[in-house]
Amino acid sequence: YTGKAGAEIPLEQLKNIRVKDYQSIPVVVKESDSVYDAISTMFLEDVGTIFVLDAKSNLAGVLSRKDLLRASLGNQELESMPVSIIMTRMPNITVCYKDDLMIEVCKRLIEKQIDALPVVNRKSPREFEVIGRITKTTTTKLLVDLVNRDLPLKEEKYD
Ligand code: ADP
Repeated sequence: YTGKAGAEIPLEQLKNIRVKDYQSIPVVVKESDSVYDAISTMFLEDVGTIFVLDAKSNLAGVLSRKDLLRASLGNQELESMPVSIIMTRMPNITVCYKDDLMIEVCKRLIEKQIDALPVVNRKSPREFEVIGRITKTTTTKLLVDLVNRDLPLKEEKYD
């Protein structure tokens, strides 16, 4: 960093940017849905991570691309295999909240070596409603916005 006037990236802005400014819409399946359904959803919705909901619509699990690839290898029964047997399940899911700082969420993605976090609303100690999604694509978009000094537009969707 040279310290030349006019060349600074406005890093101070990062301290004000929160999950709610960047979250995108979550893509979900039910615990009872099949691995086949989840693979179809992943292609149709064009996402890399799917969140799994229980019968009460609370967060139950996470499915990544590799979770689904692993389950598919040499398996003929994808239509009868529920996602609940292959997903990463609660309470081992890393989550974030709408008021968390984006820089903290970026650190969490790196520390946990994962691609996405569900944005949740805590209904009780064990019950989480899924209200959004933060991914590595979101954080890349944030970096570009910072350099362009464009604060996010609330109505814009990030994927
Ligand atoms: P991939 O498996 O396609 O490389 P990830 O790196 O995101 O994608 O996922 C790695 C593993 O971590 C997978 O088994 C996945 O289920 C799990 N995982 C993904 N996101 C989360 C999360 N938010 N909390 C806990 N585990 C997660």
